[in-house]
Amino acid sequence: MQDLLGLSPLDIARAVRDVAPEPFRAAQIFQWIHARRAADFTEMTSLPKAMREALAEGFVIGVPKVIARTPAPDGTEKFLFELADGARIEAVYIVESKKTPSWTDPETPGASRITICLSSQAGCAVDCAFCVTGRMGAGRNLTAGEIVGQYLAIARAKGFGPHAANVVFMGMGEPLLNVSQVTRALDLLEEEVSPKRTTVSTAGVVPGIESLAGRPHRPNLAVSLSGADDSTRTKLMPINRTYPLAELFAALKRWPLERGRKITFEYVLIEGVNDTSADAVKLAALVRTLPAKVNLIPLNESKEWLPGLKRPSDATVNAFAKAVVGGGVPVTVRWSKGLQADAACGQLKGREEPRRPRSR
Ligand code: SF4
Repeated sequence: MQDLLGLSPLDIARAVRDVAPEPFRAAQIFQWIHARRAADFTEMTSLPKAMREALAEGFVIGVPKVIARTPAPDGTEKFLFELADGARIEAVYIVESKKTPSWTDPETPGASRITICLSSQAGCAVDCAFCVTGRMGAGRNLTAGEIVGQYLAIARAKGFGPHAANVVFMGMGEPLLNVSQVTRALDLLEEEVSPKRTTVSTAGVVPGIESLAGRPHRPNLAVSLSGADDSTRTKLMPINRTYPLAELFAALKRWPLERGRKITFEYVLIEGVNDTSADAVKLAALVRTLPAKVNLIPLNESKEWLPGLKRPSDATVNAFAKAVVGGGVPVTVRWSKGLQADAACGQLKGREEPRRPRSR
């Protein structure tokens, strides 16, 4: 049975031409799947009954199955999905109240918004030292349908409509190591979420950045930095050996930024590793070579998965932020949401029960 979820209207038209030959039917089916969140052909009541039955015989809408929902008291909710081959992934629904300054859009502090954090791989080979997903090891690339399906399943479960949410690719996996499927997912999501409200976060995969740069409608770009010199960054993010800072920043300088937009640099703060004022000054000097803003993420600790790594004190975080601002770069601190549900940054593992971390 062919899955229609990851297909464009044109591809749907090709796929269903024997059972739904009129040209407008593909657009109708696409609308039902995406804008109206239909998970089943029986829900597509604007199609003739015989056509719905014929579609159900040859096709599926492969929205990932929700295995578990873990709400946190702050309104964040983690969704655990099982895919058709049994792979498990997680995505997060984040709601930011009017009282909470927004980290997804620091341009409009205090706005109320929904953000959906999507996974792009079922695991991650990049092995950042501060990330639980990285400790699990590599997993397969998700298809565009599996990526968009996370968004649709959460939209259906939480009951929000098109253009109501932001999307960030900050869940499990490195999106730019799955750039072809992520690009297709971005195309499909454009019907729902403007590229201006979509952010792709990368550990710094230069060919992927270059590929995204060529898109007519580019998402916002966030780069996980966490070290302002090659030595610190390589310790925390081994990918820095492949794409060192000079190469990464050369690619970022070629990124066609629209007027008024900035590249976001994420910096996970770890006690005694990268949290001194000298680190802050170095960070500001590095990123202010571009239109940039910095998101500081105090480490979300995990004794089991990230042994030996500690979150700095709030005073250290605030002093670090002040030093970066003093260096001429705007800063937001992401006091993470969803900690009680293990849904905060770097905590996703696609498991109800933790499995043993791989050894380093
Ligand atoms: S932070 Fe992102 S790129 Fe790094 S290991 Fe975790 S999921 Fe992979």
